[in-house]
Amino acid sequence: KAKENGKNDCMLYSDSWSNSSFERLKLQHEMYRAIQRHEFVLHYQPQYDLKSGIMVGVEALVRWNHPVRGLLAPGSFIPLAEESGMIVQIGDWVLEEACRQNKEWQDAGLAKIPVSVNLSIRQFLQHDLASRIAEVLETTGLEPKYLDLEITESMTIDVGHITRCLLEITNLGVGISVDDFGTGYSSFHYLKNFPIDRLKIDRSFVRDIQQDPSDAEIVAAIIAMAHNLNIQVIAEGVETEEQMEFLKKHRCDEMQGFFCSPPVSSDNIEQMLKAG
Ligand code: C2E
Ligand code: MG
Ligand code: MG
Ligand code: MG
Repeated sequence: KAKENGKNDCMLYSDSWSNSSFERLKLQHEMYRAIQRHEFVLHYQPQYDLKSGIMVGVEALVRWNHPVRGLLAPGSFIPLAEESGMIVQIGDWVLEEACRQNKEWQDAGLAKIPVSVNLSIRQFLQHDLASRIAEVLETTGLEPKYLDLEITESMTIDVGHITRCLLEITNLGVGISVDDFGTGYSSFHYLKNFPIDRLKIDRSFVRDIQQDPSDAEIVAAIIAMAHNLNIQVIAEGVETEEQMEFLKKHRCDEMQGFFCSPPVSSDNIEQMLKAG
């Protein structure tokens, strides 16, 4: 069938195809050793209170310091890790490292703020998730209120299981945020059925707040609705002062985005916390 296409097309097609599947296999194989080799690192993106401008949290974002390819963004390996199931081990490492680091900052006398950790659906399907979280809090000594877990709307595979799991987690005193809010098919279902503390307005709505009146309406409505339900709101992907002003005007609680800071190393966060 490939022969029906032009000769060059065919070669390009098969080349890039075999290449990429080979690369994927290789990367998947390398991922297995990456944890023991300490090749994963966490960067942290600050979250700010919109009224006071104070840093009120950080989101842990994983990177892979690959020996040959350099520092890889999650987009280039998380999907593979999800596919292979390795995300469970990587996610477990992320959870423990984020809690350990946060406790270290607190012990050094820096601000006590929660760290947000992204959870994969695969981690939810492990039935011991809540006890694993309790164990990590115990071993790192971090108080539960300084951990926040980010879940996404795609996590509706087994609603009963997820509801029980989320209740177990909130009973520990750990916070729950809905990430990328508004991009899935089940936004309202989440708000109605799950014990949610905070929602994160997806960056795709924030991006065109200034140009697109419907995005502006949607963002304003999400904030108002969340507040009526006693849910805090943080806007993701804030890149301009105008976006920030809009969010402030509509009483959004917090913001996160390149306008304030991209994700940075733990050393950088330490400096920022020291500077106040
Ligand atoms: P996310 O959880 O929605 O994280 C926010 C992403 O948006 C980050 O990309 C961040 O660098 C980027 N971002 C923040 N502010 C801005 C902005 O103002 N403009 C733009 N254009 N982008 C901004 P990153 O670090 O590449 O992470 C991408 C995604 O990978 C995350 O999206 C999350 O879904 C996933 N991810 C990252 N770390 C983990 C992890 O430890 N576990 C799991 N399961 N997923 C993770
Ligand atoms: Mg997130
Ligand atoms: Mg997000
Ligand atoms: Mg997003």
